[in-house]
Amino acid sequence: MRVFNFAAGPSTLPLPVLEEAKKDLTDYLGTGMSIMEMSHRGKPFMAVNDEANALLRELMNIPDDYSVLFVQGGASQQFAAVPLNLAVNRKADYIVTGNFAKKAYEEGLKYGDMAIAASSEDAKYTYIPDVKNIKFRDGIDYVHFTHNNTIFGSRFTEIPETNATLVTDMSSDILSEVVDVKKFGLIYAGAQKNIAPAGLTIVIVRRDLLGKQLPECPTMLRYDIQDKNDSLYNTPPCWPIYMAMLVFRHLKALGGVPAMQKINEEKAAMLYDFIDNSSFYTNSVNKKDRSLMNVPFVSPSVDLDAKFVKEATENGLVSLKGHRLVGGMRASIYNAMPIEGVKKLIEFMKKFEMENK
Ligand SMILES: *Cc1c(COP(=O)(O)O)cnc(C)c1O
Repeated sequence: MRVFNFAAGPSTLPLPVLEEAKKDLTDYLGTGMSIMEMSHRGKPFMAVNDEANALLRELMNIPDDYSVLFVQGGASQQFAAVPLNLAVNRKADYIVTGNFAKKAYEEGLKYGDMAIAASSEDAKYTYIPDVKNIKFRDGIDYVHFTHNNTIFGSRFTEIPETNATLVTDMSSDILSEVVDVKKFGLIYAGAQKNIAPAGLTIVIVRRDLLGKQLPECPTMLRYDIQDKNDSLYNTPPCWPIYMAMLVFRHLKALGGVPAMQKINEEKAAMLYDFIDNSSFYTNSVNKKDRSLMNVPFVSPSVDLDAKFVKEATENGLVSLKGHRLVGGMRASIYNAMPIEGVKKLIEFMKKFEMENK
């Protein structure tokens, strides 16, 4: 039996996609083998690679002067790849709004004069700094920020104002809402939250930024080399790319990103409204900065939190334990979480509150 899986990542995938993959598992399009067992230089896989790329371009409305790369190493590898490719003057500013943002900054420090332009660490990352009032330094190569903070449950609803190249980590909210790609020099995302199984990282980068990497940049991390080779410089993560293609087809059939955004707003509003109207559950993120994807909340005590997670699991609502840095619970409600899952969660929350008040 399928459960409602609220894991932050790797996370739930659309059931029709899993069924489709199952059908293809032993014989992909009459080749007599699965997509996992064939050459990445052969026609069937090359077609998958091309279609996945084209569909992501279509879904996100990515202009032609941007390259779309499928790489490995997770979003964490990009914490290094970004400065190695873009920090031509070895100077960049970071906005630190969570744990991953801080890690990106710390990794950047290895490659140059990086500075924190704004941070919400003072309030345990419960808000997003006012982007209109952030002062960036002169002569920086880029500004880096985390579009959606997976652990703390906040997101940027406005983009920082700067003439410098904007770089953003969209690991946990890519394809969840409409974004204007043109405003960014580079967007990256690990696929295992909102797209595909773990093992694939997406990089969307404006082509004029390519080929300026630092001399010590490893070949495998060079965006220009991945771009010239259609992400097939070495063996790519074939299976996650195939799964991404199926997810992209599925999203397109559902009406694309605008349709997902509408559903995501509806799901998040239902859950936040319920929490805000309850005297039992609390979410401490600044209202206007709340994530549509990751909803952390607590009950009145640590013991009740543990009881909640245990009983929710027994009711088919799994992986609700909060991140160790925050505690309590966290419901990750990515694109693949159906609205019924959120309704079931709210029903369970009501019942649990009545029994434990
Ligand atoms: C999960 C996550 C990461 C880390 O991703 P890996 O692929 O495990 O390296 C980085 N940034 C954000 C915003 C995330 O949600």
